Amino acid sequence: MSRPAGAADRRLSPHVTVLEGAEHGKYPDGNTLLVAGTEATVVVDPSLTVHRRGGVGRPVDRVLISHAHEDHLAGLGAVAGRQVSAHHDDLLGVRSLDGIMAVYGIDDPADAAAWRAELVERFHLHGWPGASGFADGEVWDLGGVTVSALHLPGHTRGHTAFLVEPDGVAYVGDIDLTGFGPYYGDHWSDLDDFVASIERAAEIEARWFATFHHKGVIDGRSAFVEQLHRFAAVIDRRDDRLLDLLAGGATTLDALVEHGIVYRPGTRPALFGTSVERRTITMHLDRLIRGGAVQRDDDGRLARR
Ligand SMILES: [Zn+2]
Repeated sequence: MSRPAGAADRRLSPHVTVLEGAEHGKYPDGNTLLVAGTEATVVVDPSLTVHRRGGVGRPVDRVLISHAHEDHLAGLGAVAGRQVSAHHDDLLGVRSLDGIMAVYGIDDPADAAAWRAELVERFHLHGWPGASGFADGEVWDLGGVTVSALHLPGHTRGHTAFLVEPDGVAYVGDIDLTGFGPYYGDHWSDLDDFVASIERAAEIEARWFATFHHKGVIDGRSAFVEQLHRFAAVIDRRDDRLLDLLAGGATTLDALVEHGIVYRPGTRPALFGTSVERRTITMHLDRLIRGGAVQRDDDGRLARR
């Protein structure tokens, strides 16, 4: 079992261990959750590090997937052979490569082909046709500990958090509290759903809040809610950036996409960055038009009101 430098297992509570990914779980890696009861063991979101380790060092009865994104599925091959489950709304993306490509919705065919190749070579994806679906509120009893599903869509349609009781651990997946802010740039993403999910996440009662990426585990609900608000504020800053661009004379969708509101200059990913900017800007524009801050004339020209 080879371990990347810096990675560690952290026993969080009687039944929960966090298997930390390289660079504290910074993308493309992540932090996997291991929940062990007296009757069964569950792994949540097996990462690239789990792939490198060749598994989690013990038999696993079920793998729960928070959502169909490459980094959350990368270690699945190393723990597969067990039941794999994801929310019904993301199941297609777990079951096949065609499905996960539909989740992303990359516009340019050459970019889509290149990303598909990366999914196979870099993230070890091949599709798990036997994966089963679950719904919001589903509970798995592992013996002395339960895991329950809390559907928090927006990042993807099926994005789900998992609550572990009685341990008081909430795994919130890619409501990841990073400085980048909420990501809702895929075809299967939705800004309004993400905003509603942030509000729902703020109501979760737990002692520990585990994120998949480098913010790691947050200790205590008040610290979590504070970081959640800071994370959500990025959405308003994207609105502000869009309004500034409109005021600065970018009056078409193409011009706005060229400037961008998601990625800092020079950091836009080559393969899907422009698709992400276009979808994100379209969702922000719809919201701003609905709210009366922006108008679109008959020729599609945009302006601040
Ligand atoms: Zn994700």
